[in-house]
Amino acid sequence: MAIQFPCIHCKTILRIDDEHIGKQARCPQCQTLNLVTENMQFSDSHSEQDEPSTPLPNPFSKKFSPTPSTTTPNWQPHRGGLILAFGIASIVCNLCYLPGILAWIFGKQDMRKIDQGIMDPEGRSLTQVGMIMGMVMTIFYLLSAAAIFILNAIAFALS
Ligand SMILES: [Zn+2]
Repeated sequence: MAIQFPCIHCKTILRIDDEHIGKQARCPQCQTLNLVTENMQFSDSHSEQDEPSTPLPNPFSKKFSPTPSTTTPNWQPHRGGLILAFGIASIVCNLCYLPGILAWIFGKQDMRKIDQGIMDPEGRSLTQVGMIMGMVMTIFYLLSAAAIFILNAIAFALS
């Protein structure tokens, strides 16, 4: 088996049979004597030098790969905006129960998903505010509906 290494003087690649390890080899180019040692194997050290140089174009791909992995690690997109809109709609739109109930149900589901790390925690505050609005308004509507029902019942009993 032959080993290859660059001449210490002129860097010409010398190919020497490994039976000459420990001896000196004269460079055909510059006549410099090179001591042939096992660990000066050029073919190995060259391929080792080549590998760190090949990932050089990778800093570009490395720039792209960590950013999505740190900002969006398989999280579901949060519905904070939607839940907040439902919460606001439940207040703005008098006597419509649906947005408040939806904000409450969706908000509760999503808060659980955020706590479990399934959903994007960035939407936590929006989700929470929307959910509380929906919850308060739903309870308010239920109480007012109950109050109307009781008042009607009293009015019916008195009539
Ligand atoms: Zn030489």
